[in-house]
Amino acid sequence: MHTKTIAQLIEGLRSKEFSSVELTRHYLQRIKERDGTYNSYITVTEEAALAQAEAADQRLAAGDDSPLCGVPIAHKDIFCTTGIRTSCGSKMLDNFIAPYDATIVENYQKAGAVMLGKTNMDEFAMGSSNETSYYGPVKNPWNTNCVPGGSSGGSAAAVAALLAPAATASDTGGSIRQPAALCNLTGLKPTYGRVSRWGMIAFASSLDQAGTLTRTAEDSAIMLNAMASFDAKDSTCVDQPLEDYTAGLSNSLQGLTIGIPEEYFGEGLNPQTAERVQAAIKVYESLGATTKSISLPHTHLAVPAYYVIAPAECSANLSRFDGVRYGHRCDDPKDLADLYKRSRGEGFGDEVKRRILVGTYALSAGYYDAYYNKAQQVRRLIKQDFVDAFNQVDVVLGPTSPSPAFEFGAKSDDPVAMYLEDIYTIATNLAGLPGLSIPCGMVDNKPVGLQLIGNYFAEGKLLNVAHQFQLATDFHQQLAPETA
Ligand code: GLN
Repeated sequence: MHTKTIAQLIEGLRSKEFSSVELTRHYLQRIKERDGTYNSYITVTEEAALAQAEAADQRLAAGDDSPLCGVPIAHKDIFCTTGIRTSCGSKMLDNFIAPYDATIVENYQKAGAVMLGKTNMDEFAMGSSNETSYYGPVKNPWNTNCVPGGSSGGSAAAVAALLAPAATASDTGGSIRQPAALCNLTGLKPTYGRVSRWGMIAFASSLDQAGTLTRTAEDSAIMLNAMASFDAKDSTCVDQPLEDYTAGLSNSLQGLTIGIPEEYFGEGLNPQTAERVQAAIKVYESLGATTKSISLPHTHLAVPAYYVIAPAECSANLSRFDGVRYGHRCDDPKDLADLYKRSRGEGFGDEVKRRILVGTYALSAGYYDAYYNKAQQVRRLIKQDFVDAFNQVDVVLGPTSPSPAFEFGAKSDDPVAMYLEDIYTIATNLAGLPGLSIPCGMVDNKPVGLQLIGNYFAEGKLLNVAHQFQLATDFHQQLAPETA
């Protein structure tokens, strides 16, 4: 059962090949037997999962036609879940039981999906390797000496190790697409505002967006159908009509123009990764698409602008963790200042502290104009690069990540090397555009990801372009060793 895609599981449930309870038990058993190796889950919600599966079986028996009814999924531990610990990978929230569900959690519940548990992640979603979690690093199912990517590394490892058919995730600068690339998955970050952020613990609010990690583009479309909604509780959620994202999957790519940004193939890109991406371009040409070389001239400024804006927003967002209202509180504080200092000092890890310090500095009087305002101006230029590009092409194509998965510790002492992991993904967040990563081959038995970036609200087009590639290739069907 565990090798099936969501589309196949839906068929199996409808044809009564297996029940949701049987399917859910099967996944729970696999998690028990195997997750010791990967550490992809922080919390497994066995009892609640079985109760939801029973309810789903009743709905199915009564003829419920919600596609995800009875399908087990996992949620990144950044999404609030009523009555269940929501840790965000941090000691700060190790004791936090959310009093409400995130909108997307509620959406999946309404759809009848079954929650298997909450997945591991970099602390407060800051990282590209899943090495900063309070609950320990996550291992890449393709090579357990290597990182799965971050920050949604737990969601990615769980799906790649077949410990969940799909998982939710979040992407502030690449955290869905980069782990998708490193774990041979399809990772979709929708347009900013397409999916509610309500109940998703905030890192950098103008960049954060929820999305999915699945094994195929078709599964991403099915997952996005249930996830996307207008939500008045998130003031940045856009009231755009909902579409059926599976409807256009089979459209032909004849006449499609794909833009290849020259800046995405320069220095720093692993030559073998570049070869795999070039080979993917040939596949698209054989499918009837035309390619066009384009320029995104401000690409080199994306990482520096992001590492001012994201820390600035995080320093404001994380000020709520003060030891007073919820989260970690130090023992025996002497006075209020001591309570703040020690609660925050003990509750946050090094990377989170580094971001808070950088952000507070960038926002302080005297530096605000030099750093924060300047970074916002650069952000506008980066957005304009894409607006100009989408006047000429339908989608933009490039690598997702500069190289395949690296070994544990390889970049953890060098924050700048780690930050450069997201060099091809960050601009998309700064511009608020949708982006997707799909498998396009292997280098040294490690997966390589191909990134596709679409215009605003062009998720349907992106999924179509990804699905057609997956019909023509079998990279996405390759499973990590010892998982089948
Ligand atoms: N790696 C980037 C960072 O550390 C992006 C993280 C993310 O998308 N959540 O901030």
